[in-house]
Amino acid sequence: MALVVQKYGGTSVGTIDKIRNVAKRVARTHDDGNDVVVIVSAMSGETNKLVAMANEMCEFPSEREYDVLVSTGEQVTIALLSMCLQAMGYKAKSYLGHQIPILTDSASSKARIKEIGQDNIRQDLNGGSIVVVAGFQGIDAEGNITTMGRGGSDTSAVAVAAALKADVCEIYTDVDGVYTTDPRIVENAKKIEKITYDEMLEMASLGAKVLQIRSVEFAKKYGVLVHVRSSFNDNPGTLVLKEDTDMETVLVSGVTYSKDEAKISVLQIPDKPGVAASIFTPLSDANITVDVIIQNVSTKGLNDLTFTVPRADFKKALKIVEEHAEKVNAGGVTSDGKVAKVSIVGVGMRSHSGIASKMFNALASEGINIQMITTSEIKVSCVIDDKYAELAVRVLHDAFELGTQEED
Ligand code: ADP
Ligand code: ASP
Ligand code: MG
Repeated sequence: MALVVQKYGGTSVGTIDKIRNVAKRVARTHDDGNDVVVIVSAMSGETNKLVAMANEMCEFPSEREYDVLVSTGEQVTIALLSMCLQAMGYKAKSYLGHQIPILTDSASSKARIKEIGQDNIRQDLNGGSIVVVAGFQGIDAEGNITTMGRGGSDTSAVAVAAALKADVCEIYTDVDGVYTTDPRIVENAKKIEKITYDEMLEMASLGAKVLQIRSVEFAKKYGVLVHVRSSFNDNPGTLVLKEDTDMETVLVSGVTYSKDEAKISVLQIPDKPGVAASIFTPLSDANITVDVIIQNVSTKGLNDLTFTVPRADFKKALKIVEEHAEKVNAGGVTSDGKVAKVSIVGVGMRSHSGIASKMFNALASEGINIQMITTSEIKVSCVIDDKYAELAVRVLHDAFELGTQEED
Protein backbone atom coordinates (compact mmCIF):
# COMPACT_ATOMS: atom_id res chain seq x y z
CA MET A 1 0.00 0.00 0.00
CA ALA A 2 1.32 3.41 -0.95
CA LEU A 3 0.46 6.92 0.11
CA VAL A 4 -0.37 8.95 -2.98
CA VAL A 5 -0.90 12.71 -3.04
CA GLN A 6 -2.76 13.91 -6.12
CA LYS A 7 -3.24 17.52 -7.13
CA TYR A 8 -5.81 18.59 -9.68
CA GLY A 9 -5.46 22.04 -11.27
CA GLY A 10 -8.19 24.46 -12.32
CA THR A 11 -8.84 23.04 -15.79
CA SER A 12 -9.10 19.51 -14.37
CA VAL A 13 -11.92 20.62 -12.04
CA GLY A 14 -13.35 23.29 -14.37
CA THR A 15 -16.87 21.80 -14.66
CA ILE A 16 -19.11 19.42 -12.72
CA ASP A 17 -18.36 16.72 -15.30
CA LYS A 18 -14.65 17.24 -14.95
CA ILE A 19 -14.92 16.95 -11.17
CA ARG A 20 -16.76 13.64 -11.72
CA ASN A 21 -13.89 12.54 -13.92
CA VAL A 22 -11.40 13.49 -11.18
CA ALA A 23 -13.46 11.59 -8.60
CA LYS A 24 -13.24 8.45 -10.77
CA ARG A 25 -9.47 8.70 -10.96
CA VAL A 26 -9.17 9.30 -7.22
CA ALA A 27 -11.49 6.36 -6.54
CA ARG A 28 -9.44 4.12 -8.85
CA THR A 29 -6.27 4.99 -6.98
CA HIS A 30 -8.03 4.22 -3.68
CA ASP A 31 -9.42 0.94 -5.10
CA ASP A 32 -5.87 -0.07 -5.98
CA GLY A 33 -5.17 -0.14 -2.24
CA ASN A 34 -3.53 3.26 -1.80
CA ASP A 35 -4.13 5.93 0.79
CA VAL A 36 -5.09 9.05 -1.15
CA VAL A 37 -4.84 12.72 -0.24
CA VAL A 38 -6.19 15.06 -2.91
CA ILE A 39 -5.35 18.74 -3.25
CA VAL A 40 -7.58 20.78 -5.53
CA SER A 41 -7.45 24.22 -7.11
CA ALA A 42 -10.42 26.46 -7.79
CA MET A 43 -12.44 25.81 -10.97
CA SER A 44 -10.59 27.38 -13.90
CA GLY A 45 -11.20 31.11 -14.24
CA GLU A 46 -12.63 31.46 -10.72
CA THR A 47 -9.49 32.84 -9.06
CA ASN A 48 -9.10 35.34 -11.92
CA LYS A 49 -12.66 36.50 -11.34
CA LEU A 50 -12.00 36.97 -7.63
CA VAL A 51 -8.79 38.92 -8.30
CA ALA A 52 -10.64 41.13 -10.80
CA MET A 53 -13.37 41.84 -8.24
CA ALA A 54 -10.80 42.87 -5.64
CA ASN A 55 -9.13 45.23 -8.11
CA GLU A 56 -12.48 46.66 -9.16
CA MET A 57 -13.35 47.37 -5.54
CA CYS A 58 -10.24 49.48 -4.89
CA GLU A 59 -6.79 50.25 -6.31
CA PHE A 60 -4.81 48.85 -3.38
CA PRO A 61 -7.05 46.29 -1.66
CA SER A 62 -6.16 45.36 1.91
CA GLU A 63 -3.81 42.39 1.73
CA ARG A 64 -5.63 40.51 4.47
CA GLU A 65 -9.04 40.82 2.81
CA TYR A 66 -7.55 40.05 -0.62
CA ASP A 67 -6.48 36.65 0.70
CA VAL A 68 -9.84 36.07 2.40
CA LEU A 69 -11.48 36.68 -0.99
CA VAL A 70 -9.20 34.88 -3.45
CA SER A 71 -8.96 31.74 -1.30
CA THR A 72 -12.69 31.09 -1.64
CA GLY A 73 -12.54 29.39 -5.05
CA GLU A 74 -10.93 26.29 -3.56
CA GLN A 75 -13.67 25.92 -0.94
CA VAL A 76 -16.15 25.20 -3.72
CA THR A 77 -14.09 22.45 -5.34
CA ILE A 78 -13.17 20.56 -2.15
CA ALA A 79 -16.84 20.34 -1.22
CA LEU A 80 -17.98 19.29 -4.70
CA LEU A 81 -15.29 16.63 -5.06
CA SER A 82 -15.97 15.22 -1.58
CA MET A 83 -19.72 15.11 -2.28
CA CYS A 84 -19.10 13.30 -5.54
CA LEU A 85 -16.83 10.72 -3.89
CA GLN A 86 -19.37 10.16 -1.13
CA ALA A 87 -22.15 9.70 -3.69
CA MET A 88 -19.96 7.04 -5.32
CA GLY A 89 -19.85 5.20 -1.99
CA TYR A 90 -16.43 6.32 -0.71
CA LYS A 91 -15.61 7.93 2.60
CA ALA A 92 -14.26 11.41 1.87
CA LYS A 93 -13.74 14.55 3.90
CA SER A 94 -12.86 18.08 2.80
CA TYR A 95 -10.52 20.45 4.62
CA LEU A 96 -9.75 24.13 4.23
CA GLY A 97 -6.12 25.12 4.82
CA HIS A 98 -6.73 26.30 8.40
CA GLN A 99 -8.56 23.08 9.29
CA ILE A 100 -5.54 20.90 8.51
CA PRO A 101 -3.82 23.24 9.61
CA ILE A 102 -1.40 24.44 6.94
CA LEU A 103 0.61 27.05 8.85
CA THR A 104 2.30 29.79 6.83
CA ASP A 105 4.15 33.02 7.41
CA SER A 106 2.19 36.27 7.18
CA ALA A 107 3.25 37.37 3.67
CA SER A 108 -0.22 37.90 2.23
CA SER A 109 -0.74 36.61 -1.32
CA LYS A 110 2.72 35.00 -1.35
CA ALA A 111 2.80 33.18 1.96
CA ARG A 112 5.33 30.43 2.59
CA ILE A 113 4.37 27.18 4.28
CA LYS A 114 6.06 26.69 7.65
CA GLU A 115 4.41 23.59 9.02
CA ILE A 116 1.65 21.14 8.20
CA GLY A 117 -0.39 19.40 10.89
CA GLN A 118 -0.67 15.69 10.18
CA ASP A 119 -3.06 14.45 12.86
CA ASN A 120 -6.35 15.10 11.05
CA ILE A 121 -5.12 13.65 7.78
CA ARG A 122 -3.61 10.54 9.41
CA GLN A 123 -6.73 9.90 11.44
CA ASP A 124 -8.97 10.09 8.37
CA LEU A 125 -6.67 7.94 6.28
CA ASN A 126 -6.56 5.33 9.04
CA GLY A 127 -10.35 5.37 9.07
CA GLY A 128 -10.40 4.60 5.33
CA SER A 129 -11.28 8.10 4.13
CA ILE A 130 -10.04 9.97 1.12
CA VAL A 131 -8.82 13.37 2.31
CA VAL A 132 -9.57 16.39 0.11
CA VAL A 133 -7.60 19.55 0.86
CA ALA A 134 -8.01 23.09 -0.49
CA GLY A 135 -4.84 24.13 -2.26
CA PHE A 136 -3.33 27.62 -2.36
CA GLN A 137 -4.36 28.60 1.18
CA GLY A 138 -3.15 28.42 4.75
CA ILE A 139 -3.29 30.31 8.01
CA ASP A 140 -0.65 32.43 9.73
CA ALA A 141 0.31 32.47 13.42
CA GLU A 142 -2.22 35.25 14.10
CA GLY A 143 -5.06 33.26 12.57
CA ASN A 144 -5.28 35.22 9.30
CA ILE A 145 -6.10 33.35 6.09
CA THR A 146 -3.17 33.49 3.68
CA THR A 147 -2.64 32.47 0.06
CA MET A 148 0.54 31.26 -1.59
CA GLY A 149 0.70 33.08 -4.89
CA ARG A 150 -0.85 32.14 -8.22
CA GLY A 151 -0.45 28.48 -8.98
CA GLY A 152 0.06 27.87 -5.25
CA SER A 153 -1.90 24.61 -5.14
CA ASP A 154 1.14 22.87 -6.60
CA THR A 155 3.07 23.98 -3.53
CA SER A 156 0.30 22.90 -1.17
CA ALA A 157 0.40 19.45 -2.77
CA VAL A 158 4.15 18.94 -2.68
CA ALA A 159 4.35 20.29 0.87
CA VAL A 160 1.62 17.90 2.03
CA ALA A 161 3.43 15.06 0.23
CA ALA A 162 6.68 16.03 1.95
CA ALA A 163 5.05 16.26 5.39
CA LEU A 164 3.36 12.87 5.01
CA LYS A 165 6.40 11.29 3.32
CA ALA A 166 4.14 10.25 0.46
CA ASP A 167 5.45 7.80 -2.12
CA VAL A 168 4.59 10.14 -4.98
CA CYS A 169 3.01 13.52 -5.61
CA GLU A 170 1.03 13.44 -8.84
CA ILE A 171 0.29 16.83 -10.39
CA TYR A 172 -2.65 16.47 -12.78
CA THR A 173 -3.07 19.24 -15.31
CA ASP A 174 -4.24 19.89 -18.88
CA VAL A 175 -1.00 18.83 -20.60
CA ASP A 176 0.52 15.40 -20.18
CA GLY A 177 3.83 16.47 -18.73
CA VAL A 178 6.58 19.05 -18.82
CA TYR A 179 7.51 19.93 -22.40
CA THR A 180 10.62 21.46 -23.98
CA THR A 181 8.55 24.64 -24.08
CA ASP A 182 4.94 25.66 -23.61
CA PRO A 183 3.10 23.34 -26.04
CA ARG A 184 0.53 26.10 -26.57
CA ILE A 185 3.19 28.26 -28.20
CA VAL A 186 5.25 25.69 -30.09
CA GLU A 187 3.33 22.86 -31.70
CA ASN A 188 6.21 20.43 -31.98
CA ALA A 189 7.36 20.85 -28.37
CA LYS A 190 8.48 17.51 -26.98
CA LYS A 191 7.49 15.87 -23.70
CA ILE A 192 10.40 15.43 -21.31
CA GLU A 193 10.41 12.01 -19.69
CA LYS A 194 12.58 12.90 -16.69
CA ILE A 195 13.81 16.28 -15.53
CA THR A 196 16.07 17.15 -12.59
CA TYR A 197 14.86 19.29 -9.69
CA ASP A 198 17.42 21.94 -10.65
CA GLU A 199 16.29 22.19 -14.26
CA MET A 200 12.64 22.22 -13.24
CA LEU A 201 13.43 24.89 -10.67
CA GLU A 202 14.89 27.11 -13.36
CA MET A 203 12.07 26.37 -15.83
CA ALA A 204 9.43 27.13 -13.20
CA SER A 205 11.10 30.29 -12.01
CA LEU A 206 11.54 31.45 -15.60
CA GLY A 207 7.91 31.13 -16.53
CA ALA A 208 6.96 27.47 -17.21
CA LYS A 209 3.84 27.76 -15.10
CA VAL A 210 3.14 24.03 -15.28
CA LEU A 211 4.63 23.89 -11.73
CA GLN A 212 4.82 26.73 -9.24
CA ILE A 213 8.46 27.36 -8.33
CA ARG A 214 8.01 26.86 -4.60
CA SER A 215 6.56 23.42 -5.22
CA VAL A 216 9.82 22.44 -6.92
CA GLU A 217 11.85 23.96 -4.06
CA PHE A 218 9.92 21.77 -1.62
CA ALA A 219 10.28 18.71 -3.82
CA LYS A 220 14.04 19.21 -4.03
CA LYS A 221 14.50 19.92 -0.34
CA TYR A 222 12.50 16.89 0.82
CA GLY A 223 13.21 14.59 -2.13
CA VAL A 224 9.56 14.29 -3.15
CA LEU A 225 9.06 12.35 -6.38
CA VAL A 226 6.79 14.51 -8.55
CA HIS A 227 4.90 13.11 -11.52
CA VAL A 228 3.34 15.74 -13.79
CA ARG A 229 0.58 14.23 -15.93
CA SER A 230 -2.74 14.83 -17.60
CA SER A 231 -6.10 14.33 -15.91
CA PHE A 232 -7.64 13.67 -19.33
CA ASN A 233 -5.67 10.56 -20.34
CA ASP A 234 -3.48 7.82 -18.86
CA ASN A 235 -0.24 8.69 -20.66
CA PRO A 236 2.89 8.57 -18.56
CA GLY A 237 3.91 12.12 -17.73
CA THR A 238 7.16 13.71 -16.64
CA LEU A 239 9.07 12.65 -13.53
CA VAL A 240 10.81 15.39 -11.60
CA LEU A 241 13.64 13.91 -9.58
CA LYS A 242 17.24 14.07 -8.43
CA GLU A 243 19.94 14.13 -11.09
CA ASP A 244 21.33 10.67 -11.61
CA THR A 245 24.15 9.36 -13.69
CA ASP A 246 22.12 7.53 -16.28
CA MET A 247 20.03 10.56 -17.12
CA GLU A 248 20.67 11.77 -20.62
CA THR A 249 22.50 15.09 -20.41
CA VAL A 250 21.23 17.49 -23.01
CA LEU A 251 22.72 20.92 -23.57
CA VAL A 252 19.44 22.75 -23.45
CA SER A 253 16.35 20.99 -22.14
CA GLY A 254 13.82 23.75 -22.39
CA VAL A 255 12.85 27.25 -23.45
CA THR A 256 10.66 29.36 -21.20
CA TYR A 257 9.11 32.79 -21.30
CA SER A 258 7.41 35.04 -18.83
CA LYS A 259 5.30 38.07 -19.59
CA ASP A 260 4.86 38.61 -15.92
CA GLU A 261 7.64 41.22 -15.96
CA ALA A 262 8.01 44.96 -15.66
CA LYS A 263 11.15 47.07 -15.80
CA ILE A 264 12.12 50.06 -13.67
CA SER A 265 15.19 52.25 -14.17
CA VAL A 266 16.54 54.69 -11.63
CA LEU A 267 18.72 57.18 -13.51
CA GLN A 268 21.79 59.12 -12.46
CA ILE A 269 22.08 57.92 -8.90
CA PRO A 270 25.06 59.26 -6.95
CA ASP A 271 27.76 56.53 -6.96
CA LYS A 272 28.24 55.89 -3.27
CA PRO A 273 27.83 53.01 -0.83
CA GLY A 274 24.32 52.27 0.44
CA VAL A 275 22.39 53.77 -2.45
CA ALA A 276 21.33 50.45 -4.01
CA ALA A 277 20.33 49.22 -0.56
CA SER A 278 18.15 52.27 -0.04
CA ILE A 279 16.23 51.44 -3.24
CA PHE A 280 15.97 47.67 -2.76
CA THR A 281 15.35 47.47 1.01
CA PRO A 282 11.93 49.18 0.87
CA LEU A 283 11.00 46.89 -2.03
CA SER A 284 11.90 43.78 -0.07
CA ASP A 285 10.11 45.18 2.99
CA ALA A 286 7.03 45.36 0.78
CA ASN A 287 7.60 41.71 -0.21
CA ILE A 288 8.36 42.60 -3.81
CA THR A 289 10.87 40.30 -5.45
CA VAL A 290 13.38 41.99 -7.68
CA ASP A 291 14.67 39.80 -10.48
CA VAL A 292 17.16 40.83 -13.18
CA ILE A 293 19.33 43.75 -12.03
CA ILE A 294 21.86 45.68 -14.09
CA GLN A 295 23.92 48.66 -13.04
CA ASN A 296 26.17 50.37 -15.52
CA VAL A 297 29.75 51.44 -14.85
CA SER A 298 29.67 54.81 -13.14
CA THR A 299 30.26 57.88 -15.32
CA LYS A 300 30.92 61.25 -13.68
CA GLY A 301 30.02 59.75 -10.31
CA LEU A 302 26.54 58.74 -11.43
CA ASN A 303 24.99 55.31 -12.06
CA ASP A 304 21.91 54.03 -13.84
CA LEU A 305 20.23 51.08 -12.14
CA THR A 306 17.68 48.94 -13.99
CA PHE A 307 15.77 45.97 -12.62
CA THR A 308 12.65 43.91 -13.18
CA VAL A 309 9.77 43.18 -10.81
CA PRO A 310 6.68 40.98 -11.23
CA ARG A 311 4.10 42.84 -13.33
CA ALA A 312 1.48 42.32 -10.62
CA ASP A 313 3.66 44.38 -8.24
CA PHE A 314 4.60 47.02 -10.83
CA LYS A 315 2.38 49.87 -9.65
CA LYS A 316 3.25 49.31 -6.03
CA ALA A 317 6.97 48.99 -6.81
CA LEU A 318 7.04 52.12 -8.96
CA LYS A 319 5.44 54.16 -6.19
CA ILE A 320 8.05 52.96 -3.68
CA VAL A 321 10.96 53.49 -6.07
CA GLU A 322 9.86 57.01 -7.03
CA GLU A 323 9.65 57.93 -3.37
CA HIS A 324 13.12 56.59 -2.53
CA ALA A 325 14.81 57.76 -5.73
CA GLU A 326 13.99 61.28 -4.71
CA LYS A 327 15.52 60.73 -1.27
CA VAL A 328 18.86 59.63 -2.80
CA ASN A 329 18.83 62.52 -5.29
CA ALA A 330 18.52 60.35 -8.38
CA GLY A 331 18.06 62.12 -11.72
CA GLY A 332 14.76 60.36 -12.42
CA VAL A 333 12.82 57.13 -12.79
CA THR A 334 11.65 55.54 -16.04
CA SER A 335 9.64 52.35 -16.40
CA ASP A 336 8.21 49.88 -18.88
CA GLY A 337 5.31 47.71 -17.72
CA LYS A 338 5.50 45.50 -20.81
CA VAL A 339 8.68 43.50 -21.01
CA ALA A 340 9.11 39.73 -21.19
CA LYS A 341 11.87 37.36 -20.23
CA VAL A 342 12.86 34.48 -22.50
CA SER A 343 15.25 31.85 -21.21
CA ILE A 344 17.03 28.65 -22.15
CA VAL A 345 17.63 26.04 -19.44
CA GLY A 346 19.79 22.92 -19.29
CA VAL A 347 22.27 21.22 -16.96
CA GLY A 348 24.46 20.51 -19.99
CA MET A 349 25.34 24.22 -20.14
CA ARG A 350 27.62 23.76 -17.14
CA SER A 351 30.23 22.13 -19.29
CA HIS A 352 29.72 23.75 -22.70
CA SER A 353 30.56 27.12 -24.14
CA GLY A 354 28.88 28.93 -27.00
CA ILE A 355 25.32 28.41 -25.79
CA ALA A 356 24.72 32.07 -24.92
CA SER A 357 26.11 33.35 -28.22
CA LYS A 358 23.91 30.90 -30.12
CA MET A 359 20.92 32.32 -28.23
CA PHE A 360 21.88 35.95 -28.99
CA ASN A 361 22.40 35.13 -32.68
CA ALA A 362 19.03 33.39 -32.89
CA LEU A 363 17.25 36.43 -31.39
CA ALA A 364 19.20 38.81 -33.64
CA SER A 365 18.21 36.82 -36.72
CA GLU A 366 14.61 37.89 -36.06
CA GLY A 367 15.55 41.47 -35.20
CA ILE A 368 14.67 41.01 -31.53
CA ASN A 369 16.51 43.51 -29.34
CA ILE A 370 17.93 42.29 -26.03
CA GLN A 371 17.39 44.81 -23.21
CA MET A 372 18.95 42.89 -20.30
CA ILE A 373 20.83 39.60 -19.92
CA THR A 374 21.28 37.38 -16.90
CA THR A 375 22.88 33.96 -16.57
CA SER A 376 23.34 31.17 -14.05
CA GLU A 377 25.18 27.88 -14.32
CA ILE A 378 22.26 26.26 -16.09
CA LYS A 379 20.31 29.10 -17.74
CA VAL A 380 20.58 32.22 -19.88
CA SER A 381 17.76 34.77 -19.80
CA CYS A 382 17.12 37.83 -21.94
CA VAL A 383 14.65 40.61 -21.23
CA ILE A 384 12.93 41.76 -24.43
CA ASP A 385 9.89 43.74 -25.58
CA ASP A 386 6.92 41.59 -24.64
CA LYS A 387 5.37 41.71 -28.08
CA TYR A 388 8.20 39.46 -29.32
CA ALA A 389 7.95 36.86 -26.54
CA GLU A 390 6.21 34.08 -28.52
CA LEU A 391 8.38 34.67 -31.59
CA ALA A 392 11.51 34.50 -29.44
CA VAL A 393 10.38 31.20 -27.90
CA ARG A 394 9.80 29.65 -31.35
CA VAL A 395 13.11 30.88 -32.70
CA LEU A 396 15.06 29.54 -29.71
CA HIS A 397 13.21 26.22 -29.70
CA ASP A 398 14.21 25.80 -33.37
CA ALA A 399 17.75 27.04 -32.93
CA PHE A 400 18.44 24.44 -30.23
CA GLU A 401 16.57 21.74 -32.19
CA LEU A 402 14.29 20.82 -29.33
CA GLY A 403 11.19 19.88 -31.33
CA THR A 404 9.93 16.43 -32.25
CA GLN A 405 10.39 16.80 -36.03
CA GLU A 406 14.16 17.09 -35.90
CA GLU A 407 14.32 13.64 -34.34
CA ASP A 408 11.99 11.88 -36.74
P1 ADP B 1 -3.28 23.90 -13.67
O1 ADP B 1 -4.52 24.72 -13.77
O2 ADP B 1 -3.51 22.45 -13.86
O3 ADP B 1 -2.45 24.21 -12.46
P2 ADP B 1 -1.55 25.56 -15.28
O4 ADP B 1 -2.29 26.36 -16.29
O5 ADP B 1 -1.09 26.23 -14.04
O6 ADP B 1 -2.43 24.28 -14.96
O7 ADP B 1 -0.26 24.86 -15.94
C1 ADP B 1 -0.41 24.10 -17.11
C2 ADP B 1 -0.06 24.94 -18.32
O8 ADP B 1 1.32 25.27 -18.27
C3 ADP B 1 -0.21 24.24 -19.65
O9 ADP B 1 -1.51 24.35 -20.14
C4 ADP B 1 0.81 24.94 -20.54
O10 ADP B 1 0.21 25.87 -21.40
C5 ADP B 1 1.69 25.71 -19.55
N1 ADP B 1 3.12 25.47 -19.76
C6 ADP B 1 4.06 26.44 -19.85
N2 ADP B 1 5.26 25.94 -20.07
C7 ADP B 1 5.11 24.60 -20.12
C8 ADP B 1 6.01 23.50 -20.32
N3 ADP B 1 7.32 23.70 -20.52
N4 ADP B 1 5.51 22.24 -20.30
C9 ADP B 1 4.19 22.03 -20.09
N5 ADP B 1 3.29 23.02 -19.91
C10 ADP B 1 3.74 24.29 -19.92
N1 ASP C 1 -6.53 28.83 -7.77
C1 ASP C 1 -5.21 29.38 -7.61
C2 ASP C 1 -4.79 30.10 -8.88
O1 ASP C 1 -5.53 30.16 -9.83
C3 ASP C 1 -4.20 28.36 -7.19
C4 ASP C 1 -3.89 27.30 -8.22
O2 ASP C 1 -4.64 27.12 -9.19
O3 ASP C 1 -2.87 26.61 -8.04
O4 ASP C 1 -3.72 30.64 -8.92
MG1 MG D 1 -1.06 25.73 -12.03
